[in-house]
This record gives sequence, structure tokens and C-alpha cells, in this order.
Amino acid sequence: MNRLWSEMTRRTEPYIPGEQLNRPEIIKLNTNENPYPPSPRTGEAIQREIGRLQLYPSPTADGLCQAIAERENLPADHVFVANGSDEVLAFSFMAFFDPGQTIRFPDISYSFYPVYSKLFNIPYEEVPLRESFTLNLDGFAQAEGGIILPNPNAPTGIYESLDGIREILEANPDRPVIIDEAYIDFAGPSAAVLIGEYDNLLVTRTTSKSRSLAGLRVGYALGHPGLIEALVRIKDSFNSYTLDRLAQAGAEAAFRDETYFRETTKRIVQTRNRAVEQLGALGFRVLPSSANFLFCTHPEADAEKLCEKLKGRGILVRHFSKPRIQDYLRITVGTDEQMDRLSKVLSEILCK
Ligand code: PMP
Repeated sequence: MNRLWSEMTRRTEPYIPGEQLNRPEIIKLNTNENPYPPSPRTGEAIQREIGRLQLYPSPTADGLCQAIAERENLPADHVFVANGSDEVLAFSFMAFFDPGQTIRFPDISYSFYPVYSKLFNIPYEEVPLRESFTLNLDGFAQAEGGIILPNPNAPTGIYESLDGIREILEANPDRPVIIDEAYIDFAGPSAAVLIGEYDNLLVTRTTSKSRSLAGLRVGYALGHPGLIEALVRIKDSFNSYTLDRLAQAGAEAAFRDETYFRETTKRIVQTRNRAVEQLGALGFRVLPSSANFLFCTHPEADAEKLCEKLKGRGILVRHFSKPRIQDYLRITVGTDEQMDRLSKVLSEILCK
């Protein structure tokens, strides 16, 4: 069949996310979802919106963009929304990166960047992280085609300071710099405060983690209106109605419930700190995390086997086969009860 495939299809190696076993007895700590349900206001808004599903959604998602803009203290023309931040990132690759010019991102970082690079024919260089898994800032100076990096980084969870991000922006005044802040609400501060100073800075975010809306697929970008205009142009060339009515209404309601957001985020950060201690007590080395997951390694255990054994006991965590990190596990921060169970099962496995 491959003879019928386009050259684009043939050169693409898709990214397969972690397993989606959604049986209630499974403790799912493998894809960095939020363990808490969304704000009740999201459900109410979606319920109301169901009666309007005969109508097309707003192609510009005005209500949602306005709610995000208010929260970020930015004008609404600085906001773009799409179907998950994965789609925001795909549109960004198309809007800002050119096939003739090499872009840079860290090695190790989000596995989707090489996928999009290959799909859109963008040459890329990976800048190795330092021994400590922090960014090598010098490696990002004068990138020919632009830069994309996650902050906090994934899957390490390590946060780069705003001074570091500023250094990258100063060294790349004329190229797009995309900071993927999928996990920023568990860390902070956000690079969004630099948008007024740097018109080449695009910050991408998601409602999948801190807003408990992974199932609704809503991501967004913040940046100078010139960048937002480019994203809108690309979006309108694919599907002007990229976000459906339920997603727009549900996400807007979530952005208008800051109290719920603050409470659940705070709880996750507290559980994260507790889980660091629990894993440390079991002999794990845990990287300093500013996200809703922990990246850790055990000197006496094979990470891949550990992952399999946990799965056998009903707990999903993530293992990556990439050489430098193959000894590590990435564990999403769940509820206190889930992390207690993880810790108990791990101690049983390790003691055998
Ligand atoms: N960026 C990073 C660094 C991520 O880890 C993820 C989630 N896997 C995303 C973007 C995409 O998130 P979503 O498409 O759910 O908004």
C-alpha cells in the first residue's frame, strides 16, 4: 500500500502517547493528566451549550479568547486557541518554521517536536541537556530557523528561570522563539510577562494539565498580534472551526473559575512534594520537578522492568527507551491515595 502514500506520509514517524487504559481500577500515572475532575462550571456550561449544537461554533472563539486574555492581563488579539496544544504546536511549526532553515530544541524534550519537524520537512538540531539535565543556554544562541522548548521541560520536569529564557530571546532577536508551557501552572513564573518586550516570543499552553481538561482538547498560544495573525491564517486554511462549541464553552467556564484551579493545582504541588519524599525513601533519585510529574531513577532497578511490573499491579507509569533516559521513569502526580498505593507497590516490588 505504501506506493499510494505521499512522500510526507512516508517520512513521518508518528508519536504514540502512553497507553490509555481507562478502566477504573487502573491507577493511570503515565500521561500527566490531572487526577481531579474539571471545575463543575465546565459541566454546567457544556450542558447549556448542547442545545445550540445545531449551529456552527464561533471560528474565532471570542468568549474563550477573552477569558484567557483577562486572566493573562493581555489584549484578546494576543491569544490563539486550537484543538489541544499539540495542534497549536503543529500550526506554529507551519506558521513560523521554514524547510530551508534549521531549528533547535533540547535533547531531551517533548517527543512531538521531531515528529512535526519530519512531517513539515523542517531540519532540526537537538541541543543536549547538561549533565544535570538543565538547559545548555549557550547552545541556543543564533538559531538559524528558530527555537522551540518546553518550560518546565518534559519529561525531566526541570524549570528554566525567566533570566534563562530572556538570554535565549536576546540571542535570537529575529527568529521565532516558542516556549511550550504545558506545565507552567505547577511552576512559574511564565514567560508570558516578556511578550510585551519580545515580538518574536510565542508562549503555548494547554488546559489538559492544570485545568483537568485533557479530554476536551483545548490549547492556546499567547504572543504579539503579528504572530497570532500567522496562526489564524494557518488554522483557517485547515478548519476555521477548529474548536467545537462544547470545547469553547467548557474551557471558557474553566478559565472563569480561578478558585477551583488554584485549589486543585495547590493540592497537586503538595502531593508532588510528598511523593518526592516517598520515592526518595525507597532509594529513587528524583529530579527537581516543577511539573505535575516526577522523573526518577533507581540505582538497583531496571526502569523498563519496573514499569512492566507496576503495570501488572494495575499502575501505569511511563518509560522512554531513549538511551540517556532509559534508566528513568516518568510518574504523573495523582492523588495522595494514588501516590500512597504507588509507593506501597513499589516497595513490594523492590523488596522481592
Ligand atoms: N507540550 C508538552 C511538553 C506536553 O507534555 C504535552 C502533553 N503531552 C503537550 C504539549 C500537549 O498537550 P495537549 O495537546 O494535551 O494540549
